[in-house]
Amino acid sequence: MTLLGTLFTKTDADPEPERPEPSGVLDALRESLIIVSDNLRVLSANEPARLAFARKDEPLVGKRITEVIRDFGLHEAFDRALKNGKSSVVRIELIDLDRKVYEVRVVPFEMEGAKRAIGVFYDITQIEHLERVRQVFLSNISHELRTPLTSILAFVETLEDGAIDDDANKRRFLSVIRKNAERMRHLIDDISELSSIEAGNVRIEPKQLDLNGLVREVFASLSAKAAERSIYLENEIEPGVRVFADIIRLEQMLTNLVDNAIKFNTAEGTVTVRCLDKPDSQVIEVADTGEGIMREHLQRIFERFYRIDRARSREVGGTGLGLAIVKHLARLHGGEVTVSSVLGEGSTFRIELPKAEE
Ligand code: ADP
Repeated sequence: MTLLGTLFTKTDADPEPERPEPSGVLDALRESLIIVSDNLRVLSANEPARLAFARKDEPLVGKRITEVIRDFGLHEAFDRALKNGKSSVVRIELIDLDRKVYEVRVVPFEMEGAKRAIGVFYDITQIEHLERVRQVFLSNISHELRTPLTSILAFVETLEDGAIDDDANKRRFLSVIRKNAERMRHLIDDISELSSIEAGNVRIEPKQLDLNGLVREVFASLSAKAAERSIYLENEIEPGVRVFADIIRLEQMLTNLVDNAIKFNTAEGTVTVRCLDKPDSQVIEVADTGEGIMREHLQRIFERFYRIDRARSREVGGTGLGLAIVKHLARLHGGEVTVSSVLGEGSTFRIELPKAEE
């Protein structure tokens, strides 16, 4: 008996030899399996195939393969296997409630003298999605690094071509080179931070900490930047308020949010930090009086490299990774970061942190 013969067993309900039912072994597989007869009708399907392709729980057995899965390439692959004895691999994309992509290996075989073909369906939806995310990420990184690098090279060439002796301008050129090099370093720091968090290499050590003091420190480190644009930083946290968080990581989240609230504020605007107490959590709000964010951008700004206005973000020194990092850090705390905004009035970012269990 062949391996397939041992795996496919007859059932009492269906004594005909050409209607084998897959045994439990095949039902336990992650891949969907469908066996078709020489007239392209389904003879047998394992449980994953029934779950993936049966409509309204109707049985798959007895249906034409084209009725079960409407894909011309797949139909041809089964046809080729049965008529020419040729194996092949096809990629099919099904758009039903959600989009699914399969790589299907179709292989001919004989069972008790009759021609059969088996289709093994590997669900590659997630793999393809991750591959696309990886490609977009790489192309974004190259683009983001190339822009400052091009500027550095151009200014170095200008200096080499004689500007080094131009006392009036050489310092300005050097400062442009430094600014662009710093931008590259900032970007690389953010990328490695994000990849460590995503790889699960960042551990948090939450403790009860004094929020008012932490916000004062964040404001102190950003005070020069705020002063440049005459932005007023307002700490509305009551003295004595404590939150349960990793101090380094909470400082990093608040620095990112306050930094954005300064960068995207209107000149002479205000940044306010306050804390709301909820039964099971505390919500730290960072509110600005900037232009606000249009509804269609609100959720997307937490994606890596998503910026509403690339040129402006670059001008104010952004990498487009800050909010993605904040989102990951909030989730590491078992919390979440959200945003609401009113156009022309400003935006409010909220970090919600669960309270420590008693
Ligand atoms: P960036 O390094 O560009 O600041 P972020 O990930 O921190 O990257 O933010 C992504 C984008 O979200 C910004 O480029 C900006 O378009 C928008 N954004 C973030 N914070 C604010 C804010 N407080 N007000 C308006 N837009 C904001």
